[in-house]
Amino acid sequence: MERIDCRKCRYFRITWENAFPYACDLFGFKGKQTPNVAVFANDGYPCRGFTPKNPNDGERKNERGFRA
Ligand code: SF4
Repeated sequence: MERIDCRKCRYFRITWENAFPYACDLFGFKGKQTPNVAVFANDGYPCRGFTPKNPNDGERKNERGFRA
């Protein structure tokens, strides 16, 4: 079975709450474990919402479109 790595998903987020350090912005919940564990426990399937992070997110470009 394919293993989902939430840390590589654009919807994964780390929170400031010690009790619920991991969050999924797609499904809108926080928890102690990475969200894919809760999704699998409730759904019975690996998460189907996985969306890879855009490697260009946060990349700075100058006015001509080149990397700064
Ligand atoms: S959408 Fe799925 S893979 Fe992405 S953070 Fe949420 S549970 Fe993890």
